[in-house]
Parts: sequence; C-alpha cells; structure tokens
Amino acid sequence: MTVKRAAELLSAARTGLALTGAGISAESGIPTFRGEGGLWTKYDPTKVASIEYFMADPSAYWSASKERGRVALAARPNPGHRALAALEAAGHLIAVVTQNTDGLHQDAGTRRVIEVHGSGRTVQCLDCGNREPRSAVQARLDSEMPPRCPVCGGTFLKPTVVLFGEAMPQAAIRDAFALAKEADVMLIVGSSLVVYPAADIPVVAMRSGARLIIVNAEPTPLDRLADVVIHGRSGEVLPAIVELIGE
Ligand code: NAD
Ligand code: ZN
Repeated sequence: MTVKRAAELLSAARTGLALTGAGISAESGIPTFRGEGGLWTKYDPTKVASIEYFMADPSAYWSASKERGRVALAARPNPGHRALAALEAAGHLIAVVTQNTDGLHQDAGTRRVIEVHGSGRTVQCLDCGNREPRSAVQARLDSEMPPRCPVCGGTFLKPTVVLFGEAMPQAAIRDAFALAKEADVMLIVGSSLVVYPAADIPVVAMRSGARLIIVNAEPTPLDRLADVVIHGRSGEVLPAIVELIGE
C-alpha cells in the first residue's frame, strides 16, 4: 500500500527531489556511519574524520581511510541508485541531493547530483592546490605514507570531502535549499536525518508544500511528518516503486 502511494505521489510530481544518505550505498557494500553495522559502532567518525585529526597527522588519517577508500572505489551502484536515475530520466525527479561522497549516483546515470558533503573521488593538495583522482593516490598508499603531492611534494593531500569541523560547500548547499523550496515531492532515502544542515532540507521542502516520502531501514526523526514512510532496504523498495510507475 505504501509503495503504491509513493508511486502515485512520484508519478504526479513535477519538481520531485531526492535526498540520499549513506543507507542507499549500504547494499553496494559501503558501510554507513549510523544504524546497524554502522562504522559509528566501531570508531567515532567525528574524531577520525575531522579536519583537526587530518591536520595533526595525515599519516594517521590515511591509514584509517585506506581500507574505506579501497571499498568505496571498488563499489558499484545498486538497484536503489539505478531506480533514482530512472525516476530522473522519466521526469519524476529534477535532481538528487546526496550526503554521500562515493560517486555512485553519477555511476548509475543520474545527471544532476548535488553533493553537499563533497566528493571522495578527488584528492587535493592543501599546499599547491593540485587535484588528482583518489584512485591515483590510493594506488600509492602501499608504498607512500602519508601520500605526497606529485607536483610540490607536500604531505597534506586531502580528499575533497567535507570533514567534521570544515565548512560546507556553499554553492551545493544553496542549490539544495533552492530546489527544496521548489519541490512538490521530496523522496528521502537511507539517511538517519540527524546530520545538519542536510536534515533541514526536507523540513524546508515540507514548509514550502512538498509531500515527503521516507525510505529507510530504521525510523527517523521526520517519520511523523511524512506522507509515506517505508521501513525497508532501498535496493528493494525503490525498484518496486519504479516498477509500479511503469516506466
Ligand atoms: P547515516 O550513516 O547516519 O545513516 C544511514 C541510515 O541508512 C540509517 O538510518 C540506516 O538505518 C539506513 N540504512 C542502512 N542500510 C539501508 C538500506 N539498505 N536501505 C535503506 N536504509 C538503510 O547516514 P547519513 O544520514 O547519510 O549521514 C552520515 C554522514 O556520513 C553523511 O553525511 C555522509 O557524508 C557520510 N557517509 C557517506 C558514505 C558514502 O559516501 N557512501 C558512507 C558513510 C557515511
Ligand atoms: Zn602540491
């Protein structure tokens, strides 16, 4: 029933917007921070994924993120990512705002992806500004710790993700909130909705008249405000919605 209602709302949407969190990539093998099996239970990301920690010791940062990077680079989009790309292609979504840094929405074919926490696919030298693909840096980690900038030799190479303690990318945040204000339907997938300001995006959309659909493995603080709440795996729920819409 709820899947049917979600399909009805999305098929009627003219300015539908999706917001995704780590949960949508869980079925691609990338661990979430929170929730069952989340990394939060193993170590505190607010510490090891903070800018203070990185600046104090880039080697410690890269040692901790080496395995995570290997997993993220090997990951492929799952049926949940592909369903969102299909919804965009059919005109039911105008964009996907994501808290993820894994690039899997782009790999799945979504054209307009707004990355509010940056991208893990690129690494930047804080000394000279040179950028290179994460895969290139990843390949050096076995022989070079911390990795060094190939242009200036600097040792502060930072993925272009937003670490805890860093400012958010202003343009992406502005775009995300502008789209939220125009959205008639907001589809939220795989987010615990406790990280700000991303968690405010659905609230802004709702205040501007959007209907909310939440697809998440566990309850979220916004469930009571949503029109449709589906507690399940996004890789199963989203394709079911797309199938019902029938495009
Ligand atoms: P989160 O880790 O806080 O919450 C993930 C949510 O997804 C949980 O509520 C969990 O119940 C749910 N979930 C788990 N598996 C699911 C599935 N198969 N289907 C549907 N829901 C599922 O994630 P968040 O709210 O996005 O915030 C964490 C922050 O950490 C984000 O800002 C993000 O930048 C970063 N992060 C990114 C990645 C990534 O790029 N893939 C991975 C981990 C963390
Ligand atoms: Zn450099």
